[in-house]
Amino acid sequence: MGNSNSRGSNCWEPNSPPHSHVTPSDKIVPAAQNDYNINVQPVEKKPAALICIALYDYETRTDGDLAFQTDDLLEILEKSDTDWWRARNKISGMEGYIPSNYVAPLKSVEAEPWYFGKIPRIDAEKLLLQTVNKDGSFLIRESESALNDYSLSIRFNQEVRHYRVKQTLVNDETVYYVNRRRTFLTLQLLIEHYSGNAEGLVIPLSKPCCKKAIGAPLTSTLSYDTYDNWEISRSSLKFERLLGQGQFGQVHQGLWNGRVPVAIKSLKTGTMSPKDFLAEAQLMKQIQHDKLIRLYAVCTTQEPIYIVTELMKNGSLLDYLRGNKGRHAKLEKLNDYAIQIATGMAYLESQNYIHRDLAARNVLVGQKGAIVKIADFGLARVIIEEEYEARAGAKFPLKWTAPEALNYGKFTIKSDVWSFGILLSELITYGQIPYPGMSNIEVMQQIEMNYRMPMPDKCPLSWYLIMLKTWDYDPMKRPTFDALKSMFEDLLFNDGHNYKETNEIF
Ligand code: ATP
Repeated sequence: MGNSNSRGSNCWEPNSPPHSHVTPSDKIVPAAQNDYNINVQPVEKKPAALICIALYDYETRTDGDLAFQTDDLLEILEKSDTDWWRARNKISGMEGYIPSNYVAPLKSVEAEPWYFGKIPRIDAEKLLLQTVNKDGSFLIRESESALNDYSLSIRFNQEVRHYRVKQTLVNDETVYYVNRRRTFLTLQLLIEHYSGNAEGLVIPLSKPCCKKAIGAPLTSTLSYDTYDNWEISRSSLKFERLLGQGQFGQVHQGLWNGRVPVAIKSLKTGTMSPKDFLAEAQLMKQIQHDKLIRLYAVCTTQEPIYIVTELMKNGSLLDYLRGNKGRHAKLEKLNDYAIQIATGMAYLESQNYIHRDLAARNVLVGQKGAIVKIADFGLARVIIEEEYEARAGAKFPLKWTAPEALNYGKFTIKSDVWSFGILLSELITYGQIPYPGMSNIEVMQQIEMNYRMPMPDKCPLSWYLIMLKTWDYDPMKRPTFDALKSMFEDLLFNDGHNYKETNEIF
């Protein structure tokens, strides 16, 4: 189909003139032959130094790291670990460790202002529809569905069009194209060509999409030396203010090393054995995804145990939905939250990891309420059982727990799917307690008799049908998180409530 905005591989191929092949102006030409047959000794060449350009500002956090500002040039001295490299700032001459995800090789695609890496199509739309962007604003992202391909997303008429940018080999050289009749040796040349020249695209490319809303990425660890030594000293933490209180302890906003904002969870003494916690935490720290709260460090040498994580400005999703900011959220926003949570859970699913306590109180909301992330994954497993039961009563998450998990302690990713369905009811009711008016025991008994929560007020039927799928008594018949993510993406695109122009993002 021609000029379509639909999903999947049917990105539009524009018309173009007959086959042409654009070469880069700086293409390397072989050195001239040695005409005089002089015996030239081969000179041992030193490998060229890798020069990177800074994509964001970075302030020092410890003695061994190196500060830099956006656009500074950095010579990489040692790629000691995939996340932290030793580098020399070409301007200040200072040396130290830098987070590798803050820089990109000079002149590489990653260093281009229009390159947005691996962002989902939905985020591309949200970003391009910010009011700072105009018709023709564009970005290049890695395609979600086709490995090695890219997508070109362009804003036009308050909508976003997506084009597939494919790669192929021509005479042993990789070429890129939107329309196979015109190929380019680099993505940069492709963008250059379509800037000021639509040639079949909906509009010529104008300015790269504004990147400001994204902000600097998280570093994988607090600093270059806390990956292996992630048991940090208590004195490196400064408690600033109480953020909230859960069943098992308090959470404070604080600073690590006097500089890095973090959340510090202190677990009530006796909640879990430090040894069991540490074993679980070793696993938890490897589980890293944009939609999961980053676990940074721990203090386990004495009680109370501290868990140091990424800080989320707007606290728990449950409080957010009930508060002033969240209770006016539109269906699109709730749908977007459902997609984000399903995306994080699909990652856990792919890692064979189980959350065990998925609920709106364990999802946290970022700045401006645009981003949500899943917290507390895996923690429930290490809570000492009597502690859990002693606090059972009204607070036990029985209404969120799948029948096989309640009856036989059989927690799986499929019991998480059940909990996700309950979380959907919390979303659509702006934080109401599930099964309103029913006690825990009643719910437990009724579920066994095939009762399910009725459709909440103002809940679209399409949502409720998905919720019912997650509450199949047979765990194997419940959908995967990956499928749930697609279901909510389809609702967003097919029900006409696509993203609208917005000021507020991320
Ligand atoms: P429970 O753990 O008992 O099931 P809970 O998840 O609400 O309930 P905590 O995880 O202890 O309990 O969190 C308490 C509150 O602290 C949360 O509701 C939230 O408002 C706040 N909070 C927790 N973690 C963070 C964080 N990383 N950033 C910002 N606020 C947080």
